Amino acid sequence: MTIQQLPDTLINQIAAGEVVERPASVVKELVENALDAGARRVDIDLEEGGIRLIRIRDDGDGIAPDELPLAVSRHATSKIASLDDLEAVSTLGFRGEALPSIASVSRFVLSSRREVDAHGASLQVDGGNVGAVAPKSHPRGTTVEVRDLFYNVPARRKFLRAERTELGHVEEWLRSLALARPDVELRVSHNGRPSRRYKGDRQLEFSDTSAGERLGETLGEEFAKHALRIDHTGAGLRLHGWIAQPVYSRASADQQYLYVNGRSIRDRSVAHAVKQAYADVLFHGRQPAYVLFLEVDPTRVDVNVHPAKHEVRFRDARLVHDFVYRTLQGALAQTRAGAGVAVST
Ligand code: ADP
Ligand code: MG
Repeated sequence: MTIQQLPDTLINQIAAGEVVERPASVVKELVENALDAGARRVDIDLEEGGIRLIRIRDDGDGIAPDELPLAVSRHATSKIASLDDLEAVSTLGFRGEALPSIASVSRFVLSSRREVDAHGASLQVDGGNVGAVAPKSHPRGTTVEVRDLFYNVPARRKFLRAERTELGHVEEWLRSLALARPDVELRVSHNGRPSRRYKGDRQLEFSDTSAGERLGETLGEEFAKHALRIDHTGAGLRLHGWIAQPVYSRASADQQYLYVNGRSIRDRSVAHAVKQAYADVLFHGRQPAYVLFLEVDPTRVDVNVHPAKHEVRFRDARLVHDFVYRTLQGALAQTRAGAGVAVST
């Protein structure tokens, strides 16, 4: 076979293989875009677990009508313009890949209006075929509609699970997002019925109180009741959030949330540090529950490790590990000494 350049649609569909696994990954990318646009409220409407429809509407900055085609073009982004920007990136997105990928494997409509524009506009993309920009009335902000995910990629569609399961994945991801952003209101509906509402605290800088309330809203009052507030700074790092007292341990790792500079990630080394800190106070086989936010100078962490951005690479992983371990171990030791928290159950 001769070497040939692949068509754009196929390139996008290949990229979609990395970032679009299921409805939950679409919701993640779209809500992250809404947050990057400064949204205060995001409405998430789903049908059939998101397989039939995902509609995300935000009240953020919006997109100029003539930039709609760019928004669905590969490697087009408003978030970085240089390698320096990438090294200090503070937005959730920066790869310019999500919209073109999603639009190449669904029936997709992007509608938007900026504050300064008199009229909104919309753009339809069907399985990667981009239509023409058309005028459309729209309040300030952006709506993205994704219908029939993977309708043109049967091999991927086959891997979608039952409606309940897909909805569960979406909800789990929204929970993790809600924990990180108590300042944003999130409303979820499924099959036409309101299913979840996280009230946003409209103060610009969300307070400990609003964040604490959201802990109860998302992970339950039992966790909130047994949560230790953590906030420690040192070695150029800050670790804050909540860890559960040992009396509130779990059979599985289902309540372990870690964020680096606001981004939800998985990290073996940090998970290990937490586990070590709990080693003396948890029974074998029990799992700690935690919601931890690690703030690191963006130049000391590489977020461009994986297309779906589930992982990061720390410049000094050892330092991060030890900082997390010492902070938590100290906090846990204090509760044992102070409140005399019972460790046995
Ligand atoms: P990235 O987020 O990596 O920049 P995306 O493909 O997700 O790439 O989005 C492409 C561009 O479209 C973004 O850089 C942004 O300018 C614009 N965009 C996408 N979603 C929204 C939104 N909800 N509100 C405003 N602008 C958006
Ligand atoms: Mg994005």
